[in-house]
Amino acid sequence: MKSNRVKGTYDVLPNESGKWQKLESEIKDVMKLYGFHEMRTPIMEYSEVFHRENDLSDMVTKETYDFLDRSDRKLTLRPEGTAGVIRSYVENKLYVDMSQQKIYYIGPNFRYERPQKGRYRQFYQVGLEALGSMDPALDAEVITLSYDLIKRLGLKGVKVRLNSLGDHESRVIYQEALRAHFEPYKETLCQDCQIRIDKNPLRILDCKIDQKHEAVISAPTPIDYLNSFSKSYFEQVIRYLDAAGVKYELAPRLVRGLDYYSHTVFEIEANINGFGAQNVLGGGGRYQSLIQELGGPDLPGIGVAFGMERLLMAIDEENPGLYDSKALDVYVLTFGEDFKKESVKLLHDLRLASLSADMNYTNKSFKGQLKEALKYQAKFIIILGEDEYKQGFVAIKNTKTENQENVKIENIVSYLKAQNGVEL
Ligand code: AMP
Repeated sequence: MKSNRVKGTYDVLPNESGKWQKLESEIKDVMKLYGFHEMRTPIMEYSEVFHRENDLSDMVTKETYDFLDRSDRKLTLRPEGTAGVIRSYVENKLYVDMSQQKIYYIGPNFRYERPQKGRYRQFYQVGLEALGSMDPALDAEVITLSYDLIKRLGLKGVKVRLNSLGDHESRVIYQEALRAHFEPYKETLCQDCQIRIDKNPLRILDCKIDQKHEAVISAPTPIDYLNSFSKSYFEQVIRYLDAAGVKYELAPRLVRGLDYYSHTVFEIEANINGFGAQNVLGGGGRYQSLIQELGGPDLPGIGVAFGMERLLMAIDEENPGLYDSKALDVYVLTFGEDFKKESVKLLHDLRLASLSADMNYTNKSFKGQLKEALKYQAKFIIILGEDEYKQGFVAIKNTKTENQENVKIENIVSYLKAQNGVEL
C-alpha cells in the first residue's frame, strides 16, 4: 500500500538535514554562552497540562491534537513547549536546589491549523524558559539572547517588537477598558470575539478574522493602563536593553497569542519580501501564574520560542552561505572487485583519522562515481588506479583547485591533513 504523509507535515530529506543540524548547532552554541541547559520532555502530556481553565487561546481551544489512549487516559500532543517544561520543573522540584533555572528545548509541536507556507501541523520550535526570577535584567537578557541568535544566523532587517501587558492589577483595569471599548461594536465582531468581550477581551486584539476591524484598530493599548510598578518594571527592561545595545521598537498593540503572559511581551520579526505573516520568527514573554497553575510554587518565568522552519526559510533567503560546509572530505573511486579490499581498508583508515569518506556501492562506472563524488561535494577524490597502486601510489585530486597528485599509499592521511588552504 502506498501512503502519503499526513496533511500539514513534511519530511526532512537527507540533502536538507545538514541545514537543520547547522541551525541546531548554532542555537546550542548561543544557549551555552548564556548558561541555558537543554531539557527534553515527552511530546505527549496529560491533557490538563495544556487545557487549563484560564487558557482560552485559539491554540488551546481549537488546535490541539487530543486523544484517549487504550486505557482511556486523556492525552494531548504538545502544541507548544512551555507547559511541558513547567510540568517537569514542578514535578522534579527543580526549584528546590537552584533559585533560578535556565532551560531550553528543541522539538516538534502539533497544532491543527490550516497548513500553508511556513505553517504546519507538525512544526519544530526552539524555545527557552528562565524560571524562578523576576528581574527586568533577566527579561532584557532573554531578548538579548534572541537578538544575538538572529544576528549570528546572519539575518538582516530583523526587528524586536516590544510591549508590556503589566501585572495582574494593570491587566484587570485594561480588560475593563477593552470591554467598554468593544461593547458598542459587539454585533459587528466575529462570533468568537463576541464571546471574548466577556471572557478575555485581550484575545480580540490578535483575532485573525477581526484584524482590520475599526474597533480593533482604535482599541486602547495596555501601556496606558500600567500601574506604577508595571511601568517602572518596563522602563528598567528598556534601560537594560539599551545597555546591551539591542535594537527594538515599541509595539503598543502587541499582546501575543497565548493567555499566560504578563509584563514584558515581544516578537522577533524578519522583513522578507513575500513572507507576510510568516515574518514572525518567534516571540515570548513573562508569565506570573503558570508555574502555580501547574501545581508548583508561586514563582515567575519568562520564555521565548522560535519556529525552526521559519528560521530556516529566513536563512535560505538572507544568508544561504551559513550552510556552506562541504559534506565529505574524501570520495574514493574504485575499479572493479580487484581493488574492493584496498578501498575498504583505505576508507576505514581515513575514517579512523577523522576524515569523512565514502565510496559508491552500486557498481557505477568511473564516470558515474565521479559524478556522485561531485554531488557529495567531496573536497578530495582518491583514485585507486591499477598501475599506480601496484607501484604504491594513488592519485589524489583536490576538487577546488583541480590539482591532481600521486601520493604514496602510506602518506595519504598526512598528505590530506597537510594540504594548505583547504580546511578539512
Ligand atoms: P507561538 O508559540 O504561537 O508563540 O509561536 C512561536 C513561533 O513558532 C512563531 O513565531 C512561529 O515562528 C512558530 N510557529 C507557530 N505555529 C507554527 C506552525 N503551525 N507552523 C510553523 N511554525 C509555527
